[in-house]
Parts: sequence; C-alpha cells; structure tokens
Amino acid sequence: MGRRILYYSTNRKLKTGSDPGFKKKISFKEALFLGMAPDKGLFMPTKIPKLSKKEISMLKGKSYNEVSFHILKKFLHNDINNKDLKLIINKSYNFDVPIEKLDNLTYVVRLDQGPTASFKDFAAQLMAGLMRKLKPKNKKITILVATSGDTGSAMGEAYRGLKGINVYILYPKDEVTTVQKKHMDTIGGNVRAIAINGKFDDCQKIVKEAFSDKDLKKLNLTSANSINIGRIFPQIAYYFYSYANIANNFEKAIFSIPSGNFGNSLGCEIARRMGLPIKKIILAVNENDEFPKFLSIGNYDKIEPSKSCLSNAMNVGNPSNLARYFELYDGTIDKDGIIHKMPNISKMKKNLYSVSITDKETIRTIKNAYKKYKTIIEPHGAVGIAALNHYHKSRKRTLSICMETADPAKFPETIKKELKITPKMPGSMKVIYKRKGKARNLSNDYNDFKKYLLTNEK
Ligand SMILES: *Cc1c(COP(=O)(O)O)cnc(C)c1O
Repeated sequence: MGRRILYYSTNRKLKTGSDPGFKKKISFKEALFLGMAPDKGLFMPTKIPKLSKKEISMLKGKSYNEVSFHILKKFLHNDINNKDLKLIINKSYNFDVPIEKLDNLTYVVRLDQGPTASFKDFAAQLMAGLMRKLKPKNKKITILVATSGDTGSAMGEAYRGLKGINVYILYPKDEVTTVQKKHMDTIGGNVRAIAINGKFDDCQKIVKEAFSDKDLKKLNLTSANSINIGRIFPQIAYYFYSYANIANNFEKAIFSIPSGNFGNSLGCEIARRMGLPIKKIILAVNENDEFPKFLSIGNYDKIEPSKSCLSNAMNVGNPSNLARYFELYDGTIDKDGIIHKMPNISKMKKNLYSVSITDKETIRTIKNAYKKYKTIIEPHGAVGIAALNHYHKSRKRTLSICMETADPAKFPETIKKELKITPKMPGSMKVIYKRKGKARNLSNDYNDFKKYLLTNEK
C-alpha cells in the first residue's frame, strides 16, 4: 500500500517566538494523542493518497460504511489493521446519510442523523473508536473540549463510558441553546460539563492555556477540536459517498459547505486532492467574513470577538484550519492569524470560493427552501444554500451538492418563528430529556479551571 504516511507541523519552519518549529515527523497515533504540535502548529500528512477513476466509479451503490472504510484505510493502514478499522467504522456509523434532490442540478446531503444530530458525530464517533483502540491499556488521557455547543455534545456522547479517558467540556454559560445545554450536562460519568461565565473565546483561551501549562503535563491532555487531525479524516468520506450516488458521467461537482473552523471543508479539499472531480469548493460563512475578504483583497484580519449569528456553530473569527489550507497552498499562517508566508492566492481562487451571508439572508433562504422545495433547512445549511446561489448569480448552473450540517430540531426557535412549524425531534435526541445532570459553574479565570481539573484528576 505504498510509502508510509507521517505527520508534520504547519509551523515547522517558524524561527520566531518562544516556540521554535517542531521538525520531527511522527505517526498518526502520536499525532492523534498530541492533538496539536508542540510548536502550536497543526499536523498534516506527508502525502495524500490518490484514488483512480475506476476506484471512484466502484464506490457507486456502496454503503456509507464501505465508502468510509475505503477512504480511511488509505490514511490509517500503518496504524490500525483493516479488520479493526472495519469494526470501528461499523460501531461508529449506524445511521443514514440521506441525499435530497432539490432540482435536476442541486442536491442536499443531510449529515444530521447521528446521535447528537450534527455532522460532528461523523468525526466524534470515529475518533473515540480510534483512541480507544490505539491507547495503551494503562495510560490515562484527558480530553479538553472548548465548544459553542455541537462539538461538546458530539464528543461527550462519543466518549461516554470509555475507560481511561476523561473528558471536560467547556461551554459559554449563556451562549448555547437549551437543547445543547441539556445534552452536555446530562452525559455524566467520565464526561464533565463546565459552564464558563464568559464567551466562547474565553473557553478556548482556557483550553489553550491548559495545553501549554507544564503542571498539567502528567494528565496527558489532548484536544477533540478540529485542530486534531483525527477529526479531519472521517470528514472526507461523505464527499465521495454523495458524489458517487449523485454524479453519472464523472462530471465535476460543486460542493457548498457551511463553515466555521473550516474542518469540514478541509475534508472536501483533501477529497479533491485524492481525485474526486470537484469544480469548486464553496466555503459558506456567516457574518464572520475574514476569509472571503482575504480571498478577494489578500489581507487577513481576524475578527475578535467573533460576531454572533443565527448559525452559532460558525461564529468563528479566526478559523483554526486556515493553517492547514495555507500549508496546502504553499503558505504559512500561525494560530494567531499572523501570515509568515503568503499562499498561492490565484490557485486558491481557482479551487475555492467564499462568501459571507447575513442573518437576514439566512432567514430568507430558510423560508424560500420551504416554499419552493417543501424542505426544512436550519440556519447553518441555509448559509450553504445561500452561498451557492451567490456563486450562480453570474454563472451557468452545474451539478451542485450542499451539505446540511445539523437537524432543524436543534434550532426550534428559529424554525418556529420563520416557518410556523415545530421540527420533529429525532429519536436519538429524545433520550436526553429523561436524563438528569448539572454542569459545574466556573468563572472565566484560568486558575479556577486549573484548580478544578487538578482536584478532579487526583
Ligand atoms: C461545527 C459546525 C459547523 C462548522 O464546521 P467547521 O468544520 O468548523 O467549519 C457548521 N455547522 C454546524 C451545525 C456545526 O456544528
């Protein structure tokens, strides 16, 4: 199966600052448990395997799990044998991936049928399975998750009850929905919810500080946010799966992806480099417009604090996976949004398109989709559809696939207000209303969290 794939840091060439570039190349297993490189860069694979045309054609009609296995084994075969990988995939995915046809050229893929009803379940379920398999028996690890809602519930649900792995979910006390809060607070056992008296940025800051705190080294901290390369690979398969089920003649497709930290769209970019025929990847963002601005004027200004929009999982003013995009286009940007080497923008523009969608337009799109196609789209998916419409304003329509990243029932307030209907709660989510549990309330002071963590992990 070819040369071994290793993992290097996107900051390896940096000389400035207190963290010199990490020069080593490490295995997938090491990268998975480290989360972030010691130089605070993100891990990238030394090569991206290719699929032949014939291989892609053969994916047509295959089950989601078969497609996922075919893609994942290309990256993971050195670290985990095929039999174990198959078992992990089958245990992770026992839900549908429905494809809805809007018209002859436009499709919506619903990635919202997992246990917590967002696309984050695809990566969370698989990552938990991989960590469980690859973790040395007597080693204990601690996972910290900063979340604006979806990542926390997806990860908490995926890691629930795993021996030797403790999970701490930090969320902003007043910025998650009632459903999300109920979900995270009631998982229990090895999964602890912490409501921070602050904003999402405060949660992220606390987690980042913990990672560089030498007193916490003994806890083997790792991240379950999409800075972890283990989050990215599972997000490649659904692009192949949906393409194989929709396209007929190997025609090039456009994918529109509601984007925040750009982990989901990065899966699509990797799929393109693996050989999937893609005409354009649309990174659809809400009013946090730092990336479309960068593509058009070549200047990058992160947005701090990020703007609060209806599509709350995309309220990101400095996408963490930009570091990986820059790497793939021969540039370097660090976690603070400082550019050390400009990427090839004209190449980026050839493959990528990005546009910012206002809340007003998001609502208009939700209403329109219901009127025109009798389908219910939630705010994140609506940003994706609106961005596709922008793209097509001055271009001939061709095959287009939109990703719906959450179930409308997760945003009942918006849907009720705009469509006057109550979206049906998926079965998997009903159980949370029977559970009990409370979050721990903490201030946004790092030392409070540190004290709490060290007391818990004694
Ligand atoms: C996390 C999330 C996104 C953004 O995904 P990224 O990989 O961070 O770009 C979009 N929609 C929903 C519903 C999400 O939970």
